[in-house]
Amino acid sequence: MPAPFRILFLSAEVAPFAKTGGLGDVGGSLPKALRALGHDVRVVMPAYQAIETDYYAGRGGLVARPGGLLVPVRGATVSAGVFEGRLPGSDVPVYCIAQRSLFDRADRYGYGDDAYRFGFFSRAALELATVLGWQPDLVHAHDWHAAPAVAWLATAGQGDDRFRGLASLFTIHNLAHQGRAPWDIWDYLGILTHGLVEEGYGQVNFMARGIYHATLINTVSPTYAREILTPAGGAGLDGLLRFRHFDVHGILNGLDYHVWDPAADTSLAQPFSADQIERRAANKAALQARAGLSPRPAVPLVAMVSRLDWQKGLDITGHVIHLLLNNYAGEAQFVVLGSGAAEYESMLAHLAGYHTDRMAAFLTYDADLAQLIYGGADIFIMPSRFEPCGLGQLIAMRYGCVPVVRATGGLADTVQDLVTGFTFNGYSAGDFWQALQRALYIYSADRDSWRALQRNGMAADFSWQRSARGYQQLYDWAVARVRGQA
Ligand code: ADP
Repeated sequence: MPAPFRILFLSAEVAPFAKTGGLGDVGGSLPKALRALGHDVRVVMPAYQAIETDYYAGRGGLVARPGGLLVPVRGATVSAGVFEGRLPGSDVPVYCIAQRSLFDRADRYGYGDDAYRFGFFSRAALELATVLGWQPDLVHAHDWHAAPAVAWLATAGQGDDRFRGLASLFTIHNLAHQGRAPWDIWDYLGILTHGLVEEGYGQVNFMARGIYHATLINTVSPTYAREILTPAGGAGLDGLLRFRHFDVHGILNGLDYHVWDPAADTSLAQPFSADQIERRAANKAALQARAGLSPRPAVPLVAMVSRLDWQKGLDITGHVIHLLLNNYAGEAQFVVLGSGAAEYESMLAHLAGYHTDRMAAFLTYDADLAQLIYGGADIFIMPSRFEPCGLGQLIAMRYGCVPVVRATGGLADTVQDLVTGFTFNGYSAGDFWQALQRALYIYSADRDSWRALQRNGMAADFSWQRSARGYQQLYDWAVARVRGQA
């Protein structure tokens, strides 16, 4: 058992304070699991508009840290506020960096000055450790937003006694989002650069910098960790990743079993457990009613809950749903919950309009409805082009909803064909349709096998405890490396 570590944990998203996708789930759950292993983890995130509003309204249990922070940027110091709270259900401290000109905006991302916003956040998080009178053993930075902290530590930070020799772990959640910045971001952060990483003219790539400078690197599943070393999966950074391939690891994300518990889920019409799977029927009926579909218990109900993004395989989904609802020999129903790209929203709206009696499309974000879908649908589809880890399939399995997934990234690592779900390999509507037909056949023809698939999925262990031990191992190696023991 390694010594407990002091870990400064930087993430742009931390559920429940701010969540867009899987990054937020990890930011909110992994620190608690690390704390349970005895580590002293302190989480830092930006104080987005909703957090500022909550603070001033006295919600969210946040208090202001007297004195705030002074952050050295562009050769001067800029002040920032610090709201302090706890991750719900734990004693893990969360610090939100408040700077109204940067973070008090309607959206979290998507602004022309994002590089400066997250550069400031990263630099502020490091200064915060000093203000807390707390010396971390390791900085754990997540995705491109926190990469400047890693780059600063490995360059300018080496000239600062407080930070010299500090280990870092850089976690890649999605290589598709890399963070581009103009070159003068390094002046802004006080980093002298000599073109260490090949980057486009006039541009810095934050993700590349994180990969280049971190003591160790990991991503969120073993298969994705291998895929990103190839030109097909490397999103332009595979050469750099191969250069560091001895230091690239894969650790599956876990699921917060307190949050995702079908036996205690108040969003369900009827809670249930693996011993009483038949109780799911009430959720299926509630979902059919909510979706305006006929209340037929035996008809297979297929579902999707997803960001509507190119990554998620919506084009082949369009073909397959049309086949399912038009040509499938038996009958089937389909419910989709998702928001995102206009082209996919309109495709799904069209399909739902055409198949009104068999399909419903909820083109929005709705956490409660998502839970009812996981707890009520029979089959969950996730035909991703690539998937770093994926949480949808883990939640579906936990809720007895059998996944049909493309065997890529974390989907390949978590869904076992004919044991916990159905998988297919090629990215094509034909392969996807075959896998879905296999699922539909077993659903209709072999109830015992179907129950076994549901039970196996519900019993699978994707807890954070398991993943946290993987992170502990990486911390151990990274700290040993910088201390010259490895
Ligand atoms: P990603 O992080 O790429 O979006 P994941 O599968 O890792 O994909 O995580 C998606 C998470 O977001 C899951 O918890 C899923 O239930 C949730 N989610 C996605 N879209 C919606 C939506 N429209 N409404 C409610 N929850 C959603």
